[in-house]
Amino acid sequence: MTTIATTNPATGRVEKTFDALAGEEIDRRVGRAAAAFASYRTTGFAERAAWMNAAADILDGEADQIGAMLTAEMGKTLTAAKAEARKCAKACRYYAEHAEGFLADRPADAEAVGASAAYIRYQPLGPVLAVMPWNFPLWQVIRFAAPGLMAGNVGLLKHSSNVPQTALFLEDLFRRAGFPEGAFQTLLIGSAQVERVLRDPRVKAATLTGSEPAGRSVASIAGDEIKPTVLELGGSDPFVVMPSADLAAAAEAAATSRCLNNGQSCISAKRFIVDIGAAEEFERRFVDAMRGRRVGDPMDEATDVGPLASEQGRADVEELVADAVGKGATVLCGGERPDGPGWFYPPTVVSGVTPQMRMYHEEVFGPVASLFRVRGVSEAVEVANATGFGLGSNAWTRDTDERERFVRELDAGQVFVNGITTSYPELPFGGVKRSGYGRELSEQGVHAFCNAKTIWVG
Ligand code: NAP
Repeated sequence: MTTIATTNPATGRVEKTFDALAGEEIDRRVGRAAAAFASYRTTGFAERAAWMNAAADILDGEADQIGAMLTAEMGKTLTAAKAEARKCAKACRYYAEHAEGFLADRPADAEAVGASAAYIRYQPLGPVLAVMPWNFPLWQVIRFAAPGLMAGNVGLLKHSSNVPQTALFLEDLFRRAGFPEGAFQTLLIGSAQVERVLRDPRVKAATLTGSEPAGRSVASIAGDEIKPTVLELGGSDPFVVMPSADLAAAAEAAATSRCLNNGQSCISAKRFIVDIGAAEEFERRFVDAMRGRRVGDPMDEATDVGPLASEQGRADVEELVADAVGKGATVLCGGERPDGPGWFYPPTVVSGVTPQMRMYHEEVFGPVASLFRVRGVSEAVEVANATGFGLGSNAWTRDTDERERFVRELDAGQVFVNGITTSYPELPFGGVKRSGYGRELSEQGVHAFCNAKTIWVG
C-alpha cells in the first residue's frame, strides 16, 4: 500500500502523513465531478476567465508560502519553487485570455461539401483524470488544468504520493478562485487505485505525466476503455554543440539545463554531444560550470542544487553512475554523495559513455551529464537520435545550414537552437517515440480534451 506523505528530502524526515481515500469516497468524488460537469460546461468564457484570473492572483500573491511548501515536499530550491508558482499564474492568465479564441467555431468550406454552413465546434469531454508527477508539482498540473477548465472540462487529480500538501493546495486553489464545487478535485490515492478511476464510465479521458511504466499502464487501461490519453513521459535530451557556437554561453546553459530542478526535469539536457572542433574548450568550461554549482539547503537563496526528491531517486542515479564507471567511463567531476542527512547528489560529468552502459539508453533523473565527442553534423544527429526517447533537444550553432539540419533531423518534440528547452504557454509541448504522444500548452493543449465536432447544415 502506498504511503501518502510529505518527507522532507533535505532532512529525510517524515513531516506529515495522509490517509488514502477509501473506495466509496473515490466513487463519490467521481460522481461529484460528473454532476459538476453537467452545469460547469454551460458556464461562459468570461465567467471561467474571471475564476482563472483569480487563481492566477492567488498563485502570485502566495508565491512565498507556496514555494516553501514545494521545497519541503520535493526539495527544489525555494527560488525555483517561487518561480514555478509565478509561471503557473502566467499560464492561468494566458488561457483566461486566449481560450475563447482557440475554441471559437472554426469555419470550413461549406460550398465544397454541399452545405449552407459547415464548421467545427469544440466541446468539452467531461471529467478528465490527471495523473501527475512530483518534479514540477504545480506546473505539471496547471498546464493541464488551465486549458482543461477553460474548455469546460472538470479535473480529477491523482498526484504523486510524495506531494500531498501540494495536491490538496491545488483543489483549494481552484475552489478559492471561485470555480464551482467539484470542478477540480484532488483524489489522495495510490497508483493502484488509478485503474478504478480510469475504468469508471463517468471519467472520459486521462492525461499522465511521469515515467514510462506508469504511462504504459494508464494508456493500456484507457485503450481498453477506448478513452483518449495524452502522455508526457521521460526524456534524455541531447545537447549538441558545434564549433561555430558561442562556447562560453553553451557551457553555462548546459550546466543550467542539467542542474535544473536539482537534475530532475524531463526536458533538461542529459547527453552532451560535442563536435571534436569544440570539444576541449566546451568540456573544460562545462566541467568548471558544473563544479561551480552550489549544492546545499534548498531554502537558502545561495543554493543552486538541492537534494534529490527521494532516497530511491538518489540510489537510482548512483546505480547508473556505478554501472558506467564499472564499464570504463570516467567521472570528470562529482560522482560521490556528500556525507550527512538528506538525499543530496553533486553535479557530475561522465565521459566515455558507450552503448554497453545503462546511462547511454536510460534517463538519469539527477544532475549527471554524459559527454560524447563526434565529427560533424551527421554523427551528432546519429548519436542524438540513438535513444528511445524523443522529448526535447538542443542544438548550439551559428551556422544556418547546420541549424536547418538539426531542425529537420533531430527526432524530438521540440528543437531549441542556442537556448535551453523550456515550456511556454504559447508553444506546444510534448514528445515523440517513448517520450509519449499528444501535446499540451498553446492552442493544441486546449484542443487535446475537446470533441472537435463537425457541423454540416444543408
Ligand atoms: P512516476 O513514478 O511514473 O509517477 C508519476 C505519477 O504516476 C504519480 O502520480 C504516480 O503515483 C503515478 N503512477 C506510478 N505508477 C503508476 C501506475 N502503474 N499506474 C498509474 N499511475 C502510476 O514518475 P515520477 O518518478 O514521479 O516522475 C519522473 C518521470 O516523469 C521521469 O521519467 C520524467 O522524465 C517524467 N516527466 C515527464 C514530463 C513531461 O512533460 N514529458 C514532465 C515531468 C516528468 P505514485 O506517486 O502514487 O506512485
